[in-house]
Amino acid sequence: MLLKIHEYQARDVFSRYGLPVPPAKVATTPEEAEAIAKEIGKPVVVKAQVLVGGRGKAGGVKLAKDAAEAKQRAKDIFALKIKELPVEKVIVAEAVDIKTEYYIGITIDRDRRMVVLIASPAGGVDIEEVAEKTPEKIAKVWVDPLKGVDQYAIREALFKAGFDPAFVPKIAAIHAKLYDIFMDFDCCLVEINPLVITTSNELKAIDAKINFDDNGLFKHPELKAWREGDETDPIEKEAHKRGVSSYVRLPGGNVGIIGNGAGLVMATMDEVKRAGGNPSDFLDVGGSATSDVVKNALEVVTLDEGVKGILINIFAGIARCDVIAEGLLKATQSMDIRVPIVIRMQGTNADKGKQILAGTKMIPVDTLPEGAAKIVSLITKGGAA
Ligand code: GDP
Ligand code: MN
Repeated sequence: MLLKIHEYQARDVFSRYGLPVPPAKVATTPEEAEAIAKEIGKPVVVKAQVLVGGRGKAGGVKLAKDAAEAKQRAKDIFALKIKELPVEKVIVAEAVDIKTEYYIGITIDRDRRMVVLIASPAGGVDIEEVAEKTPEKIAKVWVDPLKGVDQYAIREALFKAGFDPAFVPKIAAIHAKLYDIFMDFDCCLVEINPLVITTSNELKAIDAKINFDDNGLFKHPELKAWREGDETDPIEKEAHKRGVSSYVRLPGGNVGIIGNGAGLVMATMDEVKRAGGNPSDFLDVGGSATSDVVKNALEVVTLDEGVKGILINIFAGIARCDVIAEGLLKATQSMDIRVPIVIRMQGTNADKGKQILAGTKMIPVDTLPEGAAKIVSLITKGGAA
């Protein structure tokens, strides 16, 4: 899954790589914002720290000429909801006088299966819109993983796209640093929008965005800590600590959902809903449903006290139902599960899997609708399996 970090965290990474990021600090109250602005002693910008884009348009980015105004702007911003998200933190950063706003970023081109550097002289705005309406204003340079970034190719692309030639070598060097970040942290996206030229002709990165692939999270304890520090739901926190990284809690649900494959899990949630139940989570155990993985998944799901039953949906292609059944058996033997478990298993060695589970408390079914109906009826009857 995609893992996002906040702008202030991404700025921290950028600074460490020597990118020109104006000084900034995090505040959780208007008073703190005021104190930071006082310390900076210059005009500042107060910015909502929420994990969505378009904060500027939503009123989440405000300039302030002094500390008193920074306090007021922070107060306004804390009162906002940006795309449904409450604002719990803001940053107060030294403001810059902008002459030009550029876009530079790096992502993965899935069609070419390569990392691609993207740049546009039309920065500050939604880059997807630029790509759609004025594609000539977007430069792309694909990176050969063995050669790394080719400075000459970037410079040529920047010239062609209409960047100010005087700044092209410096911007190309910034792009190379973004590539280092991209590779070092297993990113999906690294972006500066906008990268600005100030009225005193300096380059500054005034926004910072980094998205990661959480499959690489185990390699980066720092990112893991950031993610955990941001979590507010205690069960999600526990799940991610145990390596059940895909778990998403849906508060108020009564049916725990476990499956292998994101699409399958979503279909399972839909079917439970249709049968009159309420999914309590999204949990994809992925391809390797070993007994440890299954045990952790079951334990995490049942941490939610609203859960009155569990529906497990396994489609075994490369995985094997008998291996998964053994995993389930081993996991449940050492656990005290007080709610009924219905399991739909299909695919490789499904019959063997069902044999293994025969005589246990787990109830095997053949189809998903059958499984959803079964778990919902067991819950509404209020009886244990
Ligand atoms: P986003 O809307 O979530 O992408 O937030 P940004 O950090 O990109 O800020 C949105 C816009 O606010 C930028 O494109 C700038 O036009 C403006 N902005 C942000 N920081 C400053 C600043 O220090 N000075 C000035 N003059 N404008 C700023
Ligand atoms: Mn931005």
